[in-house]
Amino acid sequence: METTRSDSHLDRYAARARGMVASEIRALFAVATRPEIVSLAGGMPFVSALPLDDVGAMLQHLIETRGAQALQYGSAQGDPELRERICEVMALEGITASPEDVTVTVGSQQALDLLTRIFIDPGDVVLAESPSYVGALGTFAAYQADVVHVPMDSLGLIPEALRETLTNLRGRRVKFLYTIPTFQNPAGVTLSTARRREILAIAEEFDLLIIEDNPYGLLSFDGHPPRPLRADESERVIYLGSFSKTFASGLRVGWALAPHAVRAKLVLAAESAMLSHSNLTQLAVREFLATHPWKEQVKSFTELYRERRDAMLESLTAHMPEGTTWTRPGGGFFVWLTLPEGLDSKAMAPLAIANRVAYVPGTGFYADGSGHRHMRISFCYPDPTQIQEGVRRLAEVIHAEVDL
Ligand code: PMP
Repeated sequence: METTRSDSHLDRYAARARGMVASEIRALFAVATRPEIVSLAGGMPFVSALPLDDVGAMLQHLIETRGAQALQYGSAQGDPELRERICEVMALEGITASPEDVTVTVGSQQALDLLTRIFIDPGDVVLAESPSYVGALGTFAAYQADVVHVPMDSLGLIPEALRETLTNLRGRRVKFLYTIPTFQNPAGVTLSTARRREILAIAEEFDLLIIEDNPYGLLSFDGHPPRPLRADESERVIYLGSFSKTFASGLRVGWALAPHAVRAKLVLAAESAMLSHSNLTQLAVREFLATHPWKEQVKSFTELYRERRDAMLESLTAHMPEGTTWTRPGGGFFVWLTLPEGLDSKAMAPLAIANRVAYVPGTGFYADGSGHRHMRISFCYPDPTQIQEGVRRLAEVIHAEVDL
């Protein structure tokens, strides 16, 4: 076990390093991977469902035929042919884009980092859903942004709340709204079509830039989700996509689609961060898209996750005590659970671990550490039988707390 040592460099760190603290999720991963524990905590895609032999043969073929290119430096904006394929992927969701405006990134996480680097001075305001993605909150904190949460309900971000927040913030430097409109992480909810229109209108009215993060859009269980915001507005929406959930998270290939001027800055920031993107992983994705029935692969992932979502929702209905509520995701990986009044998910986490089940307390998804009554439970990694058992164990813990 790692021991805590005092840090003799504390006085040397830049002020921004003080915002860099370990996320609760990472701390949880250490215990959640113990074999006796059913982990509903992580958001790891189930990559074992990939045809690994085919992927291996594809990688071998790649090195044999284009090894010198794959192992050479590339450009910071990313491989041109991959960027063309990325535009075809986005077209599936209704986005029309030019490969010139795409920047390939090391997962969409790097896009978040580079964009925050470009736009945020310490103290600038970033708007984010309440709750929001923990990895984005960590990045915003690292650049000393002031995150202001905007409430959501089962239809996603509430437009009137956004308007009110923006009105209250007049005079402050509100740099952008960060939103995950489709199959949100952590809440599992999707912004309705009508609200998408309203939010774009509010953005126009308040001259607001939007970062739309959409890693789960293609993993839809019940028909097509509403069109991405970027499909209807290209100048004030920066769109982030990723192959982490539709192909392989370990390759670390994502992208940002940004208006022309922002794209130029993004590429400069990417050059400073890493000189060039990995050609090997980019060509691997390119090869996969070109030679593999890729849409079939997405379909089979979707079927797998739908079955797991169903197992989770059925078990929640069967086992959870009265007063517990949860969202019903139409896609993606996550269910957001609200505990009966008076219960605290953070305080309860060690009891859950003792009962061999892990989840992420809601507090990790709020910049101010609120959210004690909530938790995120994910259905992406455990199989349906494990999910049923995990939910049963979790319900036992909640029942015991309610009965106290
Ligand atoms: N955004 C959201 C909403 C996510 O859930 C994740 C992954 N958990 C990411 C971005 C980062 O994904 P990646 O860097 O693997 O593309």
